[in-house]
Amino acid sequence: MIELSRRDVLIAAGGLAAASLEARAMGAAPGRKVGYAIVGLGYYALEVILPQFVNCEHSKVVALVSGDPAKAKRVAQQYGVPDHGIYNYQNYDSIRSNPDIDVVYVILPNSMHAEYTIRAARAGKHVLCEKPMAISSAECEAMIAACKAAGKKLMIGYRCHFEPHNLAAIKLVKDGTLGKPRYVNSEHGFVQGDPSKWRLKKALSGGGSLMDMGIYSLQAARYMTGEEPTSVFARESTDRSDPRFHEVEDIIEWTLTFPSGAMASCMSSYSSGHNHIRLTGTRGWVDLEPATSYRDQKMRVRIKDDEHEVTPPPGPGANMFAAQLDHMADCMTTGATQIVPGEEGLRDLRIIEAIYRSAASGQVVKL
Ligand code: NAD
Repeated sequence: MIELSRRDVLIAAGGLAAASLEARAMGAAPGRKVGYAIVGLGYYALEVILPQFVNCEHSKVVALVSGDPAKAKRVAQQYGVPDHGIYNYQNYDSIRSNPDIDVVYVILPNSMHAEYTIRAARAGKHVLCEKPMAISSAECEAMIAACKAAGKKLMIGYRCHFEPHNLAAIKLVKDGTLGKPRYVNSEHGFVQGDPSKWRLKKALSGGGSLMDMGIYSLQAARYMTGEEPTSVFARESTDRSDPRFHEVEDIIEWTLTFPSGAMASCMSSYSSGHNHIRLTGTRGWVDLEPATSYRDQKMRVRIKDDEHEVTPPPGPGANMFAAQLDHMADCMTTGATQIVPGEEGLRDLRIIEAIYRSAASGQVVKL
């Protein structure tokens, strides 16, 4: 039976969360929380992120950027954002002269991530940008360069790097409990509805299920093995007569090979529901399902004949959303390195581009 303490969970992933703990120990400036501007007031901003500031120790929302003034005013009143903290897409650059804003959190359609990150950096602000980082690796490179030139930090909203079950699973791999990693399975998907949504428009999304959900499968293959893939082979299945899929792919699956000889079999779908990660090593496996949902993750572990569920203990750090927001705040105030910097988003985009190339050509693509 495997016992996981809260500390075990926090130090999982080779000190990823430990970096956050260390940053917290160094502490944010006493008495002042780091101020966030939220750019884009859609589903994820309104339903998931904004309600989490109440759970943060070092972060607060001080500004909103929206194209809908009435919505922005209503949300500002709800979260105590002053009128002078309300911006639109036209006057966005004037965030430069608002000293309350330290970090800009970009929660816009994928094709807008690069522009709003670069403008934020030029306005002298640190940036937390949602996944996928952008719609091409060239855009990711430009975002990293802009933040570097401005001397500002850039982090990607890969919240699973703060999620206790995922961190506990990574720890089981890292500490050798599962033996040598041999195989990862990861599937992510949901059933898309309305064909008019931006996620189904290539110019706004950059691609279909892979850009939106497959990125979780890809991330899992990388953070579970702790290795970078050396080649990819991909196949796609899309009914182009379905109005949802005139522009973007539905199902895409790909195989990654890693330097150790481990392999990963990943997929994403916009026509079936999946949320699963399993790593199998020479001694056993860890299985997460649901793996990357907003809540209610389940983790099972099998070592030889012993199979059981593992529940990381609740407590500080158990809320991945607040932990992510506070980690960015801590990095800003202490100078610590972000757990998931822009370079991590760039690596994924390069692999995603290779997955698309492989699916189109039917060939293995070397990375
Ligand atoms: P959404 O459609 O609900 O919200 C998008 C927002 O952008 C809306 O407020 C919309 O008005 C605004 N917008 C501005 N210009 C637009 C344009 N030209 N077209 C369409 N919308 C425009 O989307 P969402 O689900 O909130 O996703 C936003 C981002 O957050 C995406 O990059 C997505 O991948 C990411 N996301 C991340 C997670 C996560 O778990 N990390 C979850 C959901 C979404």
